[in-house]
Amino acid sequence: MLQNRPPIVVVLGHVDHGKTTLLDYLRQSNIAARESGGITQVIRSFQLNNITFIDTPGHSAFAAMRARGSDLADIAILAVAADDGIMPQTVQSVEFIKLAHIPYLVALTKSDLPNANPDKVKTQLTETGVVVEDFGGDIPAISVSAKTGQGIPELLELLELLVSLHLPKGDPDGPLQAVVLESSLDSKKGPLATLIIKSGTLKVGDVLPQGKIRALTDSNGKNIKEALPSTPVEVLGLNAVLPVGSVISSIQINTSPSFPSPTAKTRAEGEKLGEGRKGEVSEDAKLNLIVRADVAGSLEAILSSLPPGVNVLFSGTGDFVATDVDKAKTGQGVLVGFNVKVTTPVAKLVEVDKVPIYNFKIIYELLDQVDKLTRPQTKEVILGKAEIIAEFKIGPDRIAGCRVTEGVISKATKIRLVRGDVIIGDTRLKSLKSGKADVPSVKSSLEFGAVFSPYLDFRIADHIIALES
Ligand code: GDP
Repeated sequence: MLQNRPPIVVVLGHVDHGKTTLLDYLRQSNIAARESGGITQVIRSFQLNNITFIDTPGHSAFAAMRARGSDLADIAILAVAADDGIMPQTVQSVEFIKLAHIPYLVALTKSDLPNANPDKVKTQLTETGVVVEDFGGDIPAISVSAKTGQGIPELLELLELLVSLHLPKGDPDGPLQAVVLESSLDSKKGPLATLIIKSGTLKVGDVLPQGKIRALTDSNGKNIKEALPSTPVEVLGLNAVLPVGSVISSIQINTSPSFPSPTAKTRAEGEKLGEGRKGEVSEDAKLNLIVRADVAGSLEAILSSLPPGVNVLFSGTGDFVATDVDKAKTGQGVLVGFNVKVTTPVAKLVEVDKVPIYNFKIIYELLDQVDKLTRPQTKEVILGKAEIIAEFKIGPDRIAGCRVTEGVISKATKIRLVRGDVIIGDTRLKSLKSGKADVPSVKSSLEFGAVFSPYLDFRIADHIIALES
């Protein structure tokens, strides 16, 4: 029988517009500070006051996942930073919301900032077809701050009002339908997935086409026996790493994501995400890649955002393994990882086989690097090298204490961080100090302190290389 179920609320908006911090404030945990580069990498979800919240990733590479977030959701919060206004992904988010035909409200975030200008944002919103109540429309807009808590009680009240007007229903006794929000392979536990139950009830012991459910964990990390509609749960016992967006059902399995991206479609024939089969070899491919990512959602986002001219020899979730290096060597490919580990045996193989390897913690940096690799190579000129010999922390910055081993390191050039033979990433210097003084450059055998921007997770004994840019 149809019964009321908790509404699923999704927060959409441009990157850095405060989505995670807002949810974080609601949840009173501190997820935003833990994320690399401050960008949400996977959908997270939790329940509060009988409302299920889903955070969606910010970068445009995640458009497919974000579209899926709004497809699942009953209500959306459009987050727009009051100091920054409408940005490309704000417009995209409005399109998603309108396609999904769901009620929504606008949260004007970061209202505590001195340059916050809510009226300007409201005018911009009107131009985008979102007419807020103050401007004679019917979309509620509220100024909030996740720093001071301003407007948060009103936001929750408004949400509850929207919920009461659109009470979502679900049938806990009907056939099971659950959507995969996150998916990964744990070396000890096997395939893991975070699901959100759309209808029916998922119980420990259920035997599904995808496996026998061995354990269910709720968003607070508590083991539960059953999950009712609208509940996000982590599931143990699946046979395979399921593609994000796929639907688990007690009747049949549908592995195609509900919003496949047009680029992913042509590439994905014969190649199932998460399992890593051999892809088609395109005639004019300039770059062969082996792609590894931590979870299926990230892998999907990466694969669907690769530029033209890229041929994926293999893709899969989990850390790099020795056979990846073999595949790259035989196929003259490049290893590209996202949020995965390069173990010592793999690093050694890479060195022996001279296979290029790149590992990233931020998706758009990975995509930028792939983009660069597809363009005709201009020879890189090395201007200087340094070794990282110490680490300091001042305020929010991690400072790399370095010694120049060759040439000159200067603030104006591109900087590459290298660990053994592995390129960790390219960056620039936000700060270059000799002693306490800011300096434009440092010469051989001298020591200096450097802050990388964008941030790279350096370690002592890593090397930095200054390149002509
Ligand atoms: P997301 O990419 O939309 O999830 O954005 P984040 O939640 O990661 O926030 C981006 C940046 O804005 C972070 O540095 C936050 O600390 C900052 N921020 C978020 N909300 C607020 C706010 O209400 N006030 C201020 N002053 N800063 C905020």
